[in-house]
Amino acid sequence: MSTPVVTRFAPSPTGFLHIGGARTALFNWVFSRHTGGKMLLRIEDTDRERSTDAAVTAILDGLSWLGLTWDGEPISQFARAARHAEVARELLASGNAYKCYCSPEELTEMRETARAEGRPPRYDGRWRDRDPSEAPEGVEPVIRIKAPQSGDIVVRDRVQGDVVFKAENLDDFIILRSDGTPTYMHAVVVDDHDMGVTHIIRGDDHLTNAARQIVIYQAMGWAVPEMAHIPLIHGPDGAKLSKRHGAMGVEAYRQMGYLPEALRNYLARLGWAHGDDEIFSTDQMVEWFSLEALNKGASRFDFAKLDNLNGHYIRAADPARLYDIMVDTASETGRNADYAGLVSKKDTVLAAIPELQPRAKTVLELIDLAQFIYASRPVVIEDKAAALLNEDGLTHLVGLSAKFANLDDWNVENLDGTARSYAEEAGLKLGKIAQPLRAALTGRTVSPGVFEVMVLIGREESLARLADATATFVQA
Ligand code: GLU
Repeated sequence: MSTPVVTRFAPSPTGFLHIGGARTALFNWVFSRHTGGKMLLRIEDTDRERSTDAAVTAILDGLSWLGLTWDGEPISQFARAARHAEVARELLASGNAYKCYCSPEELTEMRETARAEGRPPRYDGRWRDRDPSEAPEGVEPVIRIKAPQSGDIVVRDRVQGDVVFKAENLDDFIILRSDGTPTYMHAVVVDDHDMGVTHIIRGDDHLTNAARQIVIYQAMGWAVPEMAHIPLIHGPDGAKLSKRHGAMGVEAYRQMGYLPEALRNYLARLGWAHGDDEIFSTDQMVEWFSLEALNKGASRFDFAKLDNLNGHYIRAADPARLYDIMVDTASETGRNADYAGLVSKKDTVLAAIPELQPRAKTVLELIDLAQFIYASRPVVIEDKAAALLNEDGLTHLVGLSAKFANLDDWNVENLDGTARSYAEEAGLKLGKIAQPLRAALTGRTVSPGVFEVMVLIGREESLARLADATATFVQA
């Protein structure tokens, strides 16, 4: 039986969970679920200056919102510093690493000489074979790995294929600093090994690191995990993803009104494909996933595609769940009036949601579309809608209001019938009547069916809003 798969997501808590990180987490998660394995979470918080608790919280929240659960407790890389130092000392003892006493001045000089001679600025190995008795007094050394000096280091990558690095281009890099703290390169290897990670799936900006990390694995005699380096996400123009093009934290997507299942589906398609399938459930994703189907080329972020997918998932969502998301989104984005309205008119909003679903691509659009329900009078009329409330339009509203007021039963059928016969008598199309009605009732040119609107807000409110609109007309 083969070893169970263990993947990991290893974010550095220096900011929010950005969209590229979320996609890396998704692929690790999906692969672990597909194989019946585990996904572990490691917080790479060794950079004490830049790591913050707020970022850790934002990352955990972002993952939870996306439904990407990890197994066990998150592991702090910083907390494992003693173990990193221990492995560095083991490498020292086995002759695979050595102490280097170079001063900062010497290193600067080394770099400058290399640059002047047109060589890459790499450590020249001057302490590699030097006798430790030559160590200067009072200087705490760093520990450097003895990297191979010739031959190739091959990253056998499941996405990129075999990627060959010339050993001569890698230097004896530092694994333990003079203050006893590990370098990032070293910590990652020790952690991945100790955590039993079998598969490393991460951005291809780590490909060169992979070559260095392999040096440490080999020096320790540890098995190198399977690697899959995925191309980064680019903007629609092919350039590095910028904020305008989507390089934001996952919470920004939540606040823009995207549903987690839509983002999961979208992110999966950004870098992975299953035939021509564009829309698939998370279960299908888990069932179909394979590392081999990860794309080799960079993918381009496209808001229009994400909007379309989100529209699909909004239409498919349970109205009660959408209601809760609308309330949370209004609250989180400081839309206080919307929040208050959604809460106070809960039943009406709930009843209206099926009417709103086909018309919205984001939760923010759903909220906008629901505003007519709790709008306070007189309803604010948007410019486009105001144009419909011209003399003609208002004249019809006066006539119609009188007929509506006489209805015994306030239902869609009666309202529709009344408006139709009014239009017929006036020799007009129903649209000519419905448009000013919608404008007066909702302040907008887009809403659910206007008679549905009238039933949702009720007789009294409908007649009052129509009266508000015509009152301005009479005064004018
Ligand atoms: N902490 C690294 C990052 O956030 C990931 C390291 C890794 O996956 O090996 O880019």
